[in-house]
Amino acid sequence: MTDPLHAIVSGAGVGGLTAALCLARAGLRVTVLERAPALEEVGAGLQLSPNASSILRDLGLLDTLAPFAVAPEALRVRRARDGAELMRMPLGAQAEARWGAPHIVVHRADLQRVLLDACGSTPSIVVKTDVEALGFATVEQDGRPGVQIGALENCEHTRFDADVAIAADGLRSTLRGRLGLGLGDAPVYSGRTAWRALIPGSEAPARALRPETNLWLGAKAHLVHYPLRGSDLVNLVAIIEDPWRGEDAADIWRDPLDANPRHLHRAFSMWSHEARDLLSLVRQWRRWPLFERPFSKRWSMDNVALLGDAAHPVLPFLAQGAALAIEDAASLGLAFAAHGADARAAIAAYERERIPRASDVAIASRRQASIYHMTGPMALARDAVMRRISIEAAMSRMDWVYGYRHGSGVSRPLLPWRG
Ligand SMILES: Cc1cc2nc3c(=O)[nH]c(=O)nc-3n(C[C@H](O)[C@H](O)[C@H](O)COP(=O)(O)OP(=O)(O)OC[C@H]3O[C@@H](n4cnc5c(N)ncnc54)[C@H](O)[C@@H]3O)c2cc1C
Repeated sequence: MTDPLHAIVSGAGVGGLTAALCLARAGLRVTVLERAPALEEVGAGLQLSPNASSILRDLGLLDTLAPFAVAPEALRVRRARDGAELMRMPLGAQAEARWGAPHIVVHRADLQRVLLDACGSTPSIVVKTDVEALGFATVEQDGRPGVQIGALENCEHTRFDADVAIAADGLRSTLRGRLGLGLGDAPVYSGRTAWRALIPGSEAPARALRPETNLWLGAKAHLVHYPLRGSDLVNLVAIIEDPWRGEDAADIWRDPLDANPRHLHRAFSMWSHEARDLLSLVRQWRRWPLFERPFSKRWSMDNVALLGDAAHPVLPFLAQGAALAIEDAASLGLAFAAHGADARAAIAAYERERIPRASDVAIASRRQASIYHMTGPMALARDAVMRRISIEAAMSRMDWVYGYRHGSGVSRPLLPWRG
């Protein structure tokens, strides 16, 4: 019997940990390398749509996550100026019946802890913190192709040998920089910043604690809020157009930028009292400049492949970044299960499925950005369409995103929200 393949996964974010679990299910031995000294409680809320929650369910993790998750009953779209409701798309039981799995919101730290605990109880997975992957070399090991990962472990240089390496090291992926994708392959600032905050439930107005996802649309700005951990917290994300030129934090999860909300309050000054009152409850804002990367037709070199934000950072307008990372992980696991020890064939199958899917979602997220931030007559026209749209039409526009399953090839519509 041959030894199982050994995979190194760099990065213990949502993508890396889910990939470790999926690869272990495919029979691989996995070592996860995480740069942070410890996986602490960092982050904010994440919406997890059925395309992702179905995978967590397949991994047996949805019930473990359930006590920390909220399943919003609806997505409520409102006009910034006066709070008028433009659209109400049911989620809850209707979403679960339509898309085959629940639509939930969770704190990223809760999801990461559930994934980490599952890795901890899987004998074929080892997670090592305080190890920063620096680069890789492809080699032959015992007659089969392999990878050496150069790393800093507790500040000492070291090396890890593996058959396969998965770079799940986020937007500023170090390993992606070694893939030879060209000088133009760098994160590009999108012209927008996200401002994230958590309000204690005890300080939030009762209407913000209803199990609903609220999306407010204003000129060149929008706001999303929903309750987290039952009603312990309210998660706020405000996205504005911002000619930001500063330095961004290398590790945005742990060192969010110092956020002076002056810009933010200016962008929201013409909004309804209800929205401004909610914003005024925030004690600490965290500012996240939003980046994209040029699309790449290749996510791999030899036995090294990209996954999650390292492969395809997407704008958060469809709330799909973490969901795509989870989809990537499932696809990777299934590709290795199908191709056995032939790592290159598995990676090629993974790229064939995932590059088109992630590109579709990235393009649609970009389009959604311009729809959400419309001004003047365009915004009036958008609002009129939203008010007229039937629930069936609103839900069917999300089928290709939320109803996606590995290999299902659900095609995407051309213009979401256009009636
Ligand atoms: C404002 C905002 C709202 C969002 N909302 C949603 C949402 O509602 N739903 C959704 O699905 N997505 C959402 N996203 C996107 C989502 O947060 C990301 O797409 C997702 O977290 C990416 O996961 P990842 O594991 O690929 O990368 P990351 O979460 O960035 O994890 C990368 C990990 O790699 C580690 N690392 C980095 N470099 C190295 C190295 N050299 N060696 C070892 N380790 C390393 C890092 O410390 C980190 O732990 C949102 C994003 C933003 C900005």
